[in-house]
Amino acid sequence: MALVAAHNELNVYESAEARFEVAVKRLGLEEGLYKYLRYPNKEITVYIPVTMDSGHLEVFIGYRVHHSIVRGPCKGGIRFAPDVTLDEVRALAAWMTWKCAVVNIPFGGAKGGVICDPSKLSMNEKERITRRYTAELSEWIGPERDVPAPDLGTNEQTMAWVMDTYSMHVRHTTTAVVTGKPLDLGGSHGRKEATGRGVMISCDKALAKLGMKRETCRVIVQGFGNVGSMAAMLMHGAGYKIVGVADIHGGLYNEKGFDIPALIDWVYAKCKPLPEFPAGGAKMTAQEVLFQPCDILVPAAIENQITSQNAHRVHARILCEGANGPTTAPADALLEKKGVFVIPDILGNAGGVTVSYFEWVQDRQGFFWREDEVNQRLKEVMERSFDEVVRYAETHGVNNRIAAYMLAIDRVAFALKLRGIYA
Ligand code: NAD
Repeated sequence: MALVAAHNELNVYESAEARFEVAVKRLGLEEGLYKYLRYPNKEITVYIPVTMDSGHLEVFIGYRVHHSIVRGPCKGGIRFAPDVTLDEVRALAAWMTWKCAVVNIPFGGAKGGVICDPSKLSMNEKERITRRYTAELSEWIGPERDVPAPDLGTNEQTMAWVMDTYSMHVRHTTTAVVTGKPLDLGGSHGRKEATGRGVMISCDKALAKLGMKRETCRVIVQGFGNVGSMAAMLMHGAGYKIVGVADIHGGLYNEKGFDIPALIDWVYAKCKPLPEFPAGGAKMTAQEVLFQPCDILVPAAIENQITSQNAHRVHARILCEGANGPTTAPADALLEKKGVFVIPDILGNAGGVTVSYFEWVQDRQGFFWREDEVNQRLKEVMERSFDEVVRYAETHGVNNRIAAYMLAIDRVAFALKLRGIYA
């Protein structure tokens, strides 16, 4: 079992470490490799001076953590949120290393964040924060070094600003410096839907394994941003019944199922609060929706939603993690005891980084793929990775999460051994 002191349960870095420790022990990893992989490669803190629209000068704190460059350039999102901490960015960077290794793409892991509240910033202020943050990091990012992407509070527009700022510094347009860009700036078809599509592909695989059918599957999706809304839309289109939805404003549960295209129109075209959806069901908090009756639960919002305090209330047969770190380490054992089939974040939401990899490849080739080609390649990667994790779990007698960590750590450690240590 993954051990974390009770008072630290919500520290995501400790949660990530706890699973890492268990996986390393099960693998019997040698001491030196353990020490190497435990620490990040580099941690950068930047202080970002920004002239606000009011004319006053503000300073924002930003981080970028490179966890690993063993298997390739490091890769990971940039998060704009008021509660960003270095510990959180560290954990997310490590998860990126393991995620890229689980799906076997040639990247290491990184993550970045800026402590700010995007809901209180104008577009111009967000642009100035993004450009100065990028300028401060310009020698540490690049197509061969570290390739950022969007995450909570950032989007395609943010990536366009990062790409432009970096290109101005290096004096030539460098589209491959970021992924998740607009299509017209070297983005990839299918990237917007990729994480949600990966969630659906993983759920399809779990259904086949457990002998279940889409048509009789009730799904709850917490989070209605990029990952949650796309997962809900694709799964609704494929025949799953979406009975629960939630975002930061609250949750809705309706046993009869939601018309997801209408809900997307309500939230995104009409810009109305999700809980006010006219054809909605029972209103509740975004947390409460997690514990309603369902077959598949997809937490796709933020960390620490399923904990030792509430894991016993999960009804789902399958938990597919769209968000990073939605389940704390102490909750793992409780879910396992209940027989919940867990598709851990480093597998379940890896569709995003997989298509980001495709975007990076296309940018570097200057040759772009059709959407059906992107989706087909994504399907192949997700299905193969799912099979490898489940096989690893069965062979080693561990749960899917620990299996995913073991598989990933094994791949990174093997590459590290081949490279050796540069003295
Ligand atoms: P987003 O900013 O587009 O959407 C976040 C959603 O979560 C919004 O609907 C927001 O209202 C909701 N939310 C925020 N706080 C909440 C709360 N307390 N309770 C309920 N809902 C809340 O972000 P996203 O890109 O969809 O990312 C969501 C999660 O998925 C994050 O953990 C992110 O790291 C992870 N992830 C994203 C991608 C990607 O490709 N975007 C890939 C892998 C993992």
